[in-house]
Amino acid sequence: MKRKTFLLTIMLLGMQAVFAQMPVQELPFDPDVVKGTLPNGLTYFIQHNENPKERAFFYIAQKVGSLQEEENQRGLAHFLEHMCFNGSEHFPGNSAVSFCQRIGVQFGNHLNAYTACDRTVYNIDNVPTTDPANLDSCLYILYDWAHALTLDPKEIDKERGVIHEEWRVRNSGVNRILERQLPVLMPGSKYSERLPIGLMSVVDNFKPEVLRAYYDKWYRPDLQGIVVVGDIDVKQMEEKIKTIFGQLPAPKQDAAKFEYYAVPDNYTPIFVFDKDKEVTTPTLEMFLKYDPVPRHYRNTFVGITNSFINMVLTTMLNYRLDDIMQDANVPVTACRAYTGPFMFMARTKQALQMEIRPKDGKSEEAMAMVLRELRRASMHGFAETEYKRALDDLSGVLDQMVESRKTVKSNTLVDECIEYFLENQVKTKFETEVQIYRQLGQNVPVKVINDFATTLIGQLDTNLVVFGFYPEKEGVKVPTAAEANKVLASVKAEQLKPYEVKVIDTKLIEKEPVAGTIKKELPEDGLGYKGFVLSNGITVKYKKTDFDEGKILMNAISHGGQFKLKKEELTNATVFNDVMANNGVGKFNGNDLEKALTGRIVSISPTLTNSTENFSGSSSKKDFKTLFQLNYLYFTEINYDTVNYNKVIKNKEVTLANRDANPMTAFSDSLKLCLYNYAPYVQPMTLSRLKQVNYDGILKIYKERFGNPADFTYVFTGAINEDSLKSYAKQYLASLPTTNKLEKKGKPDMRLMNGKKICRFSKKMETPQCYVVGFWNGTCEVTPQNQVVAEALGQVLDIHYTETIREKHSFAYSTGASSSVMYMFGEPKFLVQVVAPVKPEKCDSTIMLINEGMQLIAKNGVEAEKLNKVKEQMLKEYETNQRENSYWQSAETDFILDGKNTVAGVKEAIKALSSDQIKAFVNNNVLKQNNSLKVIIEPEK
Ligand SMILES: [Zn+2]
Repeated sequence: MKRKTFLLTIMLLGMQAVFAQMPVQELPFDPDVVKGTLPNGLTYFIQHNENPKERAFFYIAQKVGSLQEEENQRGLAHFLEHMCFNGSEHFPGNSAVSFCQRIGVQFGNHLNAYTACDRTVYNIDNVPTTDPANLDSCLYILYDWAHALTLDPKEIDKERGVIHEEWRVRNSGVNRILERQLPVLMPGSKYSERLPIGLMSVVDNFKPEVLRAYYDKWYRPDLQGIVVVGDIDVKQMEEKIKTIFGQLPAPKQDAAKFEYYAVPDNYTPIFVFDKDKEVTTPTLEMFLKYDPVPRHYRNTFVGITNSFINMVLTTMLNYRLDDIMQDANVPVTACRAYTGPFMFMARTKQALQMEIRPKDGKSEEAMAMVLRELRRASMHGFAETEYKRALDDLSGVLDQMVESRKTVKSNTLVDECIEYFLENQVKTKFETEVQIYRQLGQNVPVKVINDFATTLIGQLDTNLVVFGFYPEKEGVKVPTAAEANKVLASVKAEQLKPYEVKVIDTKLIEKEPVAGTIKKELPEDGLGYKGFVLSNGITVKYKKTDFDEGKILMNAISHGGQFKLKKEELTNATVFNDVMANNGVGKFNGNDLEKALTGRIVSISPTLTNSTENFSGSSSKKDFKTLFQLNYLYFTEINYDTVNYNKVIKNKEVTLANRDANPMTAFSDSLKLCLYNYAPYVQPMTLSRLKQVNYDGILKIYKERFGNPADFTYVFTGAINEDSLKSYAKQYLASLPTTNKLEKKGKPDMRLMNGKKICRFSKKMETPQCYVVGFWNGTCEVTPQNQVVAEALGQVLDIHYTETIREKHSFAYSTGASSSVMYMFGEPKFLVQVVAPVKPEKCDSTIMLINEGMQLIAKNGVEAEKLNKVKEQMLKEYETNQRENSYWQSAETDFILDGKNTVAGVKEAIKALSSDQIKAFVNNNVLKQNNSLKVIIEPEK
């Protein structure tokens, strides 16, 4: 049975009548975007947007990817992407990278690209628009990418090593299984032989002309789209694009025909189960394939209807799964439904996808459980109450989207244009789209969704694909296809009743507390935060901003944390955050609380750090009051939520059972232990430690650490209405019972390692790889100048190591360095870090290169050109941060904890930054204090 046209059928049956006024035609293209096609076939999109101010974003999207490769080109779509940064007509050598760095655009972060099966997208983000010459240069970079790459054979040879290292980094257990099984999972489809990373036999050996052939054949204007969004003059930009890209030659008459590659339907189920020594968690991915809305219908009312139906269907399925998961005896630890491209990659085939984490040895029961619910949904549909809840949730999301849209960021707008260009996804006026969603919510009866579920799920064995991956380990049972078929047959024979919906009373607070008062107003502090003290002693600080209309941030902080706990409490403390994140409050357990909060955009959770307790949360403007109510309940009425607790612990058990199988986990465990001197606070969680964890112990920590609300300072940042803030604070904060017992900053029993040390260890690996991490640390006063010099040092090292370890020697695919000055465990510290995953045989050479990089700066300082690049990047980042709520929120938090204003004086310090300062910092701090640690993991011989 094929399910080619079910969507159109639904539309014709049900909706045409409801939406008679809306004929199925292309929705008017978003009038805020200037769109055009040049005579040579190139499409462009330009939009003015001032968030961020004085910045522009330049993208080129190619409709081609690894699917367009011939057999002898496997991996070359991606290889070509790398070559875009290695020389072109206007930017020889690596001058494109260098130019971008000079204007403060970081390589790898703001200058980047990605290759998929069916697309290749390049980006230059956050370009300063203050100098118009920058805009021209960026257009020429896009131009060169489109048509004028050098593809120098010498550069190609150097890049082979880098890509080989990228393959190594990405070659995880799951990826190995995927590569092996794709031909079985997607039989008869070109996708199964075109993972973008390709074949290393091709990457290592191809002749330069084979790469050139792919480039010439597929990089051509009819398959290319340019997107420029930002604080720019749109008319001028359009003229420039016409002039520059008009020079691209039109595709030849006999140019290769571009095609989409289908994924065939399967009429009997496909079950694939496989194992690998480095897979840690058994996982089942269950797909129900179906055809996506045809391209020409996507930017129409049908496209939006399709998204609407998918959204509410998966939402309702997830409600049921969440409910079922309340039972401690379910065979899964996690289970989620969503829709997306089949096998995460094929955009020519959609899938309703269920991601399932079976408990130990319970794979068959887990499959049965999910198949049963799918079948139940298709037989009996969903109830009005479930549908209403989904619509309420959707409506809450839409409300917040409308608010957020007022301060929409340029990169979001870029993405919309790219999806329209590549996939013809909806791109109409935002308000129109939202209005259609709302109308659908009001007019579409639940029967339409139920019909959709019946058509999609109907006969379970058509288009069903189940892909399971397991740890290869004694005692771990991997199911067989025959067993899975048996499960399916037995579920199909079951008599299923309609789902019983458990309805709950959703009132959050039974009896409103008696409000307190504001005792004292506080003057604005150096970071622009005003504040007040409430009658019960709680302090509130707030900063009203207009950076993001969709969200208000909250963080309540108090000194204390794990350092105040007894040693024997640390095991419980390790899982504290996970358990408390979804613990219920009031009369609700965690799951019921979620139900009660349907349609509201709000989140809050208590967290414990080494030296603090926090309530961190956020809400939309509309649900600001709910945030206060939840906080009130957390203090007054914590729910004894064993359901949530058992769920969290079971989940941990499953992930911990094989955690050591992943070499990276062993590595990061050892790294933490070495760096923090084997402090008890960083002991990794293990299965045997988990056995000592108990819920009462966790709640005891909670009651002690979160016992006195007056010990907390509340920080709010965002689109705040001051009157509402004060009235909610009086109602829900000032009413909390408090004591006079206030905690001071503790003297923590933890410090960074000192002296010179190398921690070296080996581990059995399926794909041999060496990781080298270097640290330097020491004492250093926290001043704006030291902060800036330290950060600059990190960036200089980052560029240096990329140039040497990656570009010059091809030892690694990527390296990274960073450095900072801050309070750590109450003491002023600096910390410099370097990370490099490299070829196993180059481990020792890499250690030498890392040390050499630091020595060079100690001796020669930093070249003027490099220093200017770093200063530009830092100034730009500083400016971007000025309009980020999260930046202010964390600066104010630091200010409250350590009494240091980490913003004032920073800009001046960046401007004054000199090579001598960095040199002196390295000599006087980094090398002189000489606390240097290298952690190395190597493959076991
Ligand atoms: Zn790559």
